[in-house]
Amino acid sequence: MLLTPRPKATRTKALRTRRVAVALLAASASAALIAASAPPPATPLGIGDRLFPHLGNPGYDVASYDIAFTYRGDNSKPLDAVTKIDARATAPLERVNLDFAHGKVRSVEVNGKAARFVGTGEDLVVTPAAPVAPGERMLITVRHTSDPVAAKGAEGGWVRTGDGLAMANQADAAHLVFPCNDHPSDKADFTFRITAPKGLTAVANGLPVARTRHGGGGTTWSYRTRHPMATELAQVSIGRSSVIRRKGPNGLPVRDVVPTKDRKTLERWLKKTPGQLGWMEKKVGRYPFEAYGVLIAQAQTGYELETQTLSLFERELFTRPEYPEWYVDSIMVHELAHQWFGDSVSPRSWSDLWLNEGHATWYEALYAQEKAQRPLAVRMRDAYRQSDAWRAAGGPPAAPKEPAPGQKISIFRPVVYDGSALVLYALRQEIGQPAFDRIERAWVHEYRDGNATTDDFVRLASQEAGRDLGGFFKAWLYGEKTPPMPGHPDWRTSTTDGK
Ligand SMILES: [Zn+2]
Repeated sequence: MLLTPRPKATRTKALRTRRVAVALLAASASAALIAASAPPPATPLGIGDRLFPHLGNPGYDVASYDIAFTYRGDNSKPLDAVTKIDARATAPLERVNLDFAHGKVRSVEVNGKAARFVGTGEDLVVTPAAPVAPGERMLITVRHTSDPVAAKGAEGGWVRTGDGLAMANQADAAHLVFPCNDHPSDKADFTFRITAPKGLTAVANGLPVARTRHGGGGTTWSYRTRHPMATELAQVSIGRSSVIRRKGPNGLPVRDVVPTKDRKTLERWLKKTPGQLGWMEKKVGRYPFEAYGVLIAQAQTGYELETQTLSLFERELFTRPEYPEWYVDSIMVHELAHQWFGDSVSPRSWSDLWLNEGHATWYEALYAQEKAQRPLAVRMRDAYRQSDAWRAAGGPPAAPKEPAPGQKISIFRPVVYDGSALVLYALRQEIGQPAFDRIERAWVHEYRDGNATTDDFVRLASQEAGRDLGGFFKAWLYGEKTPPMPGHPDWRTSTTDGK
């Protein structure tokens, strides 16, 4: 994600219901409960993410989602939806908690049998006809609506555009759109089937697999991902759009989704993507997915978002004259870099967010240096000056402060952007460019299609550098104060130079 730097009206945000992570019942306790006549009330669960303790659910691992949406042409009306979840239990489950908070559930089936369900907090708690044993497969079918109109004070999930819908689920809003295990640590395969009226085009992550026209003039568009994906990176676009195709490096399918009326004016930006892909591949290696492209939406999100294989951008980024060309280019590269850093290699927990944003900012800045003569060292010196203040406001890079109440995307603070690119700059200063480049390539190779933690990065960096960097990273990632910059003893933070 990258916030668009322009003044926006402050939205009123309400505090959402806070939920508490509750440990799974031990197997013996669970067996006892089955025998009891009155089971305890369903409780919302989480996996205990420090920043979002209610997200995700214990006791199972999702292999795939198959999500069908029926859109009737009015983005103020709920869509009909069927979400099928193929999961495997990892613990004895008497109940299965899903994250889902903004739609009406009509029915739930588990392995073909009707299951009882109740909504509590931001969870949909499902009670299968019989308890589920560890290792057992669960096919969960939820028939529900998916409401594109945000609840009062909430944000994220569906984004209503001038001509339809797009999706922006980061960090914790996928469960406002479909029932899921809404945490990046449980990546899964996705199939989307979107039925929309004549005249509208639907596109989702991955590649198209089918397109069926219906008698009434509507069409069902089906897409499937070829690589596992986090729920926060799902994208479904419905609108009066054109899909513009071209080839990237090694024949990679590049398809951009833009408002049809803007396709000519946007072309000068769209045609840059293959070159940007080639530039990133030279830096870190082969592009990790089956396709790429930009989705340019007629919406005011206030940010751009690295939805997997199809990054979401606000149309205004490309049409407002005050943004210089080099700047827009570098933002395009920021979201592209996320496909490696954040999408292919996903954070294990949201405290690892600096690994996403630090790297995306790094390549954004490096691109601006190489293509537009905006020196990285100047940007990093400026970041260094502000770094102590950023750490005071947002916490150190790898131990960010909790989101402000009711403003969950407030974890996207300067300390995880330039404040964390600064950590990478310090690393390169410390170990030299050849070792730094090896780390970057090894990182996206070793953890491709998976999850990784800050400790994993420290371990891999130490390995590639041939020495223990534990102390170096401890100071840079967890320190309240910014350590001295290797090679730049004259650099000062604003607190030390009296500004
Ligand atoms: Zn970002």
